[in-house]
Amino acid sequence: MTEQLWAPWRLEYIKSADDEPGCIFCLALEGDDEEKLVVHRGEHAFVLLNKFPYSSGHLMVAPVRHVGEYGELEDEEAVAIHRLAQAGMGALAQVYAPQGYNLGWNLGRIAGAGVLDHVHLHVVPRWAGDTNFMPVLADVKVLPEHLVDTRRRLVEAWPSA
Ligand SMILES: [Zn+2]
Repeated sequence: MTEQLWAPWRLEYIKSADDEPGCIFCLALEGDDEEKLVVHRGEHAFVLLNKFPYSSGHLMVAPVRHVGEYGELEDEEAVAIHRLAQAGMGALAQVYAPQGYNLGWNLGRIAGAGVLDHVHLHVVPRWAGDTNFMPVLADVKVLPEHLVDTRRRLVEAWPSA
């Protein structure tokens, strides 16, 4: 799994994350949904698009509360995060029809976390052969229009509660 998901452009992100003041998740919560690529907001957790995706539609689900320890998540936060991951996969199925998903927590820098102090669950859609096109995505470099469009489509496809 590590090899399949290896994404060299993320190194740049992990490096640059150190330079950015503030927490990208808390900033996203305070900001505009479209600008910050927030797809869905819940009471205890919310969903946003990863600006440096492993694949198209790569979502991150984070607690609303700024918490860096997985073990410190409250029950309602842990449940909300996983329920939103389910809903996110529902929306992704509508929009992109992935063939599979990786759900994962990168806890600690050594495990690939770009943001250390606000835990988040990655929801990564997968397709057969996607390791071949993923490096291409790196060159796409996350065209803002592309992500804005992805966000809009996922918002429209988000399953109603
Ligand atoms: Zn935060």
